[in-house]
Amino acid sequence: MEHADVVVIGGGQSGLATAHALLRQGLKPVILEASGRAAGSWPRYYDSLTLFSPARYSSLPGMPFGGDPDRHPHRDEVTDYLTTYAARLNTEIRTNARVEEVRGDEGGFKIFVQAGSELTARVVVAASGTFGNPYWPALPGLDGFTGTVLHAAEYASPEPFSGQRIVVVGAGNSAVQIAAELADIAQVTLATRTPVRFARQHILGRDLHFWLRRTGLDTAPLGRVLRTPPTQPVLDDGRYRAALNSDKPDQQTLFTEISDNKITWPDGTTEQVDTIILATGYRPDLPYLDGLGALDQHGHPLHRDGASLTRPGLAYVGLEWLRSLSSNSLRGVGRDAERVARRMANHLARS
Ligand SMILES: Cc1cc2nc3c(=O)[nH]c(=O)nc-3n(C[C@H](O)[C@H](O)[C@H](O)COP(=O)(O)OP(=O)(O)OC[C@H]3O[C@@H](n4cnc5c(N)ncnc54)[C@H](O)[C@@H]3O)c2cc1C
Repeated sequence: MEHADVVVIGGGQSGLATAHALLRQGLKPVILEASGRAAGSWPRYYDSLTLFSPARYSSLPGMPFGGDPDRHPHRDEVTDYLTTYAARLNTEIRTNARVEEVRGDEGGFKIFVQAGSELTARVVVAASGTFGNPYWPALPGLDGFTGTVLHAAEYASPEPFSGQRIVVVGAGNSAVQIAAELADIAQVTLATRTPVRFARQHILGRDLHFWLRRTGLDTAPLGRVLRTPPTQPVLDDGRYRAALNSDKPDQQTLFTEISDNKITWPDGTTEQVDTIILATGYRPDLPYLDGLGALDQHGHPLHRDGASLTRPGLAYVGLEWLRSLSSNSLRGVGRDAERVARRMANHLARS
């Protein structure tokens, strides 16, 4: 059977940053990527998406983003950036290689890949992100809704929804951005449990990311103490606050019930809706670890700073609050990857 010292599962920014860090430790990782290219989920994000951090704060280790450092690169630029980053890595990246299962094996792990191949490894780093596991909240009556319901993960652009009555559920960045762009061509309500909180993109003439770095907030290891990660405020240069203030979209407290194609608002009024879009976030996408005793009952990894607490040689990179606020961002994932790579190199040296 084929053997690799280190297998990295996922060829997005987290997997690529991890491979970069492992190479710096003198290791030769093999990346297994389910899709046909190594750019993570970026090609599948909605069409209008631009980075919320300026280019100067959005690089992975070893390769600056390039271009005007103050611009906010479009989704396609990020895809191109990651594709180039992957091509420059001196490591093996296998695409169309979805990992179906990881089992414990003498001295490490046995990895089963969809196409039928198997390999063994002494270290496995799970960097498969969250986009493959969109979170669908249990909303009363949602199963019986006769209109269209989709998760933000399936949303690409506003055009197919022109003229519709739409409710977007959620209070985060995606919810507000999607609702605001739909409001130009449809009648849209943003339905939230709690009012939307905003963070200003610029403070005292500097981008927020300057201050996050300067104050140390970006890197403080708060992931260890946070039981439930706080909801991130919506980053705004003023346009989303203005959109909500002018009721495009309008904002309402979450509806209480869905019946057929109608929803009931907390004040008892009922109305017909064409489409409900759930912009309700994501959860770790780690089904291949189910049998390993490495996850809690909600599918969240049991770890400290990315190193598994139950399985020596198993680690995670790229999850929300894995270590700090910036753990699941382009600007922060490289730091976590360095730390995990050092831990795994030590593990290999000892075992
Ligand atoms: C809409 C949206 C906007 C965002 N905007 C920003 C932003 O502006 N700035 C920022 O820094 N961050 C942003 N993020 C957060 C984060 O940076 C991205 O989600 C990023 O794509 C995460 O990278 P990743 O490599 O961890 O996961 P992904 O990009 O999801 O990559 C994981 C890879 O693993 C592969 N995979 C999954 N399961 C398997 C398996 N079983 N076997 C093999 N491969 C597998 C997938 O095919 C995928 O290529 C945003 C997130 C979303 C959802």
